[in-house]
Amino acid sequence: MSRSKELFKPINKSEVTMYNCGPTVYDTPHIGNYRTFVLNDLIRRTFEYNDYEVTQVMNITDVDDKTIRRSRAENVKLSTLTKKYEDLFFQGLTSLNILKPQNITRATEYISAMIELVQSLLDNRVAYKAKAGIYVSIDKVKNYGALACLDLSKDSNDEHGQERISNDEYDKENPRDFAVWKFRNEDDGDVFWPASFGEGRPGWHIECSAMSMKILGPTMDIHTGGSDLIFPHHTNEIAQSESATGKPFVHYWIHGGFMNVNGDKMSKSKNNFSKLEELSGSDVSPIAFRYWLLTAHYRTQINFTFEAVKAAQNAFLKLAANISEYPEGGVISADYKEKFIKYINDDFDMPRAVALVWDLMKDSGVSNDNKRATVLDFDKVFGLGLSKLVKESVEIPQNIKALADAREIARQNKDWTKADELRKQIEQAGYDVSDKDGAYKITKKN
Ligand code: AMP
Ligand code: ZN
Repeated sequence: MSRSKELFKPINKSEVTMYNCGPTVYDTPHIGNYRTFVLNDLIRRTFEYNDYEVTQVMNITDVDDKTIRRSRAENVKLSTLTKKYEDLFFQGLTSLNILKPQNITRATEYISAMIELVQSLLDNRVAYKAKAGIYVSIDKVKNYGALACLDLSKDSNDEHGQERISNDEYDKENPRDFAVWKFRNEDDGDVFWPASFGEGRPGWHIECSAMSMKILGPTMDIHTGGSDLIFPHHTNEIAQSESATGKPFVHYWIHGGFMNVNGDKMSKSKNNFSKLEELSGSDVSPIAFRYWLLTAHYRTQINFTFEAVKAAQNAFLKLAANISEYPEGGVISADYKEKFIKYINDDFDMPRAVALVWDLMKDSGVSNDNKRATVLDFDKVFGLGLSKLVKESVEIPQNIKALADAREIARQNKDWTKADELRKQIEQAGYDVSDKDGAYKITKKN
């Protein structure tokens, strides 16, 4: 909100309450969406590393215009469609080593909380009933648009106003007013719920307000999303939540920068997106993609190319190979840990933290076992699953390690044929590779 770094002060000591706007499950997310989900995970891990207890809530948008449209187009029940994409979304989270939030809230399971919120907005006359639905009158909202730095004096003749007028919903009193409830209509088929103010379904914005406040209370520490959510989504969430409760809704907003392709935001509508499967198809593992994300600050926009991610994968594999060669039993370097904490606690500066790892790798004043212990400790935040990649420290030639790394990537990508082929090559060279507890181990055949 202040557009500057602020010192984090939790509502309750040593606790963090955080709400992450989740996916709209009408399709699988593209890798740009996953950039934002990795950011949520890094925020959580950073706080946990600092001994905070994090209560993380992420919603699943399983009813909105897009999900309904797609389920009608495919002639399947809304819940059948959304369940399928929710499952695929969670598979994506797992492959990226993203910790699952403790609270996953599906919009369709919180309809009564949404109805209550709409009712309270009607009761205090911030919302009004029109032909197509119930709208929030932004004239009644204090500081409407502060998060997006909107200049309301320009009235409805700006880009957003125009967009709405030309869109639909001209029964609104002001084109900027937004729907919190959409009355049942033909296009929605059988998707509607009863409510005293008229059967229908919630608007997208009210979903997140109702779910976040239901679990975390009227005021939460952190709320996140990609920067495209600042307006209108988060702007409207603030408007309706604060109008209903009279309390500040969120203490800290964190928005992630876009992933772009040739300077354009990666998005479904621009048809310039890639999915995790396509990375795998190009022999890039999701974890290497995660490593690539760590090398840019979350607020900056990044430009996606396969070449950039492949270069990051090479660096990541080198790091994993080094760590796996180093002996166990070391201790964490206090000097490096101090710097690491300083960087990650300075607005989640992961690029500096990654650079620190490479400084450490080159530092001849730190023993190899201590390097290993230190990097594995930092990996609690990075979430690269390095300990899984670690192998037994035996004399294994470089080319065999490279084959084993390639096999591990094939396995992460579920390319079993390729993984088997690589195993054969390793065996023909006189080595065995085995998998145990999520790690792989190379041994010389007797
Ligand atoms: P959606 O499923 O469309 O609601 O989006 C899920 C999350 O992905 C939201 O937090 C969006 O802000 C975010 N997002 C969408 N496109 C991008 C992009 N190109 N780069 C980064 N985040 C994005
Ligand atoms: Zn949301």
